[in-house]
Amino acid sequence: MFQVFGVIQKRQVCRSAVLQVQKQAFQRDEALFARLNPEDFALAARQEAKKETIVNPVIRSLKKHINAVRVNVVGTDKSRINIRVYIWGMTILRNPPSLWLTINPTDTHDPIVQVFAGEEIDLDLFDRCAGPDSAQRAKIVADDLYAAAKFFHFVIQAVFEELMGIVVHKHKRVGHITRSEGILGTVEGYIGTVEAQGRGTLHLHTLIWLRGAPTAIEMKALLQSPGFRTRIAAYIASNICAHHDHISEESLATLPREKAVSYSHPLDPRHPSFNTSHYDVEGQLVRAVQVHKCGPGCLKASRGRLLCKRRAPFPLACEAWIDSTGDWGPRRTYRYLNNWNPTLLLATRSNHDCKLITNGEGTKHISWYISSYAAKRQQHSCNASALLAKTIAYHRRDKAHNSDVRSLNKRLLQWCANALSREQEFSAPEVVSYLMGWGDRYVSHHFQTIHWGSLAGLLRRSFPVLKDT
Ligand SMILES: [Zn+2]
Repeated sequence: MFQVFGVIQKRQVCRSAVLQVQKQAFQRDEALFARLNPEDFALAARQEAKKETIVNPVIRSLKKHINAVRVNVVGTDKSRINIRVYIWGMTILRNPPSLWLTINPTDTHDPIVQVFAGEEIDLDLFDRCAGPDSAQRAKIVADDLYAAAKFFHFVIQAVFEELMGIVVHKHKRVGHITRSEGILGTVEGYIGTVEAQGRGTLHLHTLIWLRGAPTAIEMKALLQSPGFRTRIAAYIASNICAHHDHISEESLATLPREKAVSYSHPLDPRHPSFNTSHYDVEGQLVRAVQVHKCGPGCLKASRGRLLCKRRAPFPLACEAWIDSTGDWGPRRTYRYLNNWNPTLLLATRSNHDCKLITNGEGTKHISWYISSYAAKRQQHSCNASALLAKTIAYHRRDKAHNSDVRSLNKRLLQWCANALSREQEFSAPEVVSYLMGWGDRYVSHHFQTIHWGSLAGLLRRSFPVLKDT
């Protein structure tokens, strides 16, 4: 799988490099690119290591072209940048997003993944004691990462379609979406990204646009009204929870954490016992998947202190609240409970997080966060110039006799882009997602790129009067 994925990436790099060297902006400097030598890159590497600006303008320009090549290659951090443009486009079209959701489906414990892996499990007459047991389940998933990836995409699609009521009909015609009222209201659209965590399992971060959301300016004015704030607080109280009667600091010490609670059949809301049993089940699930425990994964040193990057311990509140600046919080009586949505928790039996977005600042931070996994991915290759210096030294040794500037430059772009691709880490479920065409993003709408530079150029040429404006 990894080899096939590597070939796909290289072919995309090749195709993208062919197009890049034909661009005017590239051809302007092509003679200079061809004359770059390993020492130029080594100098840039030293400057990059010292976090200085790279002084050589030709290297700076080449890096821009390498980035432009990588935008068109699946799995690169550059290819994610489009997501930011989509978020702005969607915000212009449908006002700012209202919610931010992260879902981590539990692939080791959910029975559905076992069925995808070929286990004979009757999901209608589910018996959790019938096996496989927890250790066997973990092994089955580890041996079948295709099933793990398929499970993830199956669950996410089911959440959007069945719980949120938004169905994107990709096969009918582009942009055909049907909506019905779901657990969060009527969802106008969503834009989310798929990421792998340290152990390789996939999770989703997504922004959600609700129908009827106000613009940022209207929101500011509305938040001044106590009646509006009461309605929002009621929305938070029913959709974003962080309190459960059965869970407190004291009860956690005695309440056993049943890890495999997700190896279960979700409660059926139509069943007569649902009303009496769902709150207890919710409590067990909260105990198992929503208690935040600070550890090496979330603690970061800041000014000599260790702080949780998830900002635990979370603030307490005796009821859901929102103030006139848009700050808000759920009811919380124990500082280490992550927010959850009750229906989503009962249905997926997996860890998730849910936040309200009330201002542009929040949208900006989140869109930056979900569209750049550079921070996590490229830690080892933070000195890209050093990597390129090595690559160039290696290749130029053999290819010095080639005199065709354009093909030499095309290869230069390819070497550089491939060298950067090699430094990226992928987990098997991610690679499966690319190979199967499931991809690394969930975007409800279809976006068409407008190449504004060329469009504006054409307008100026056709209508010279515009040149002055
Ligand atoms: Zn923490």
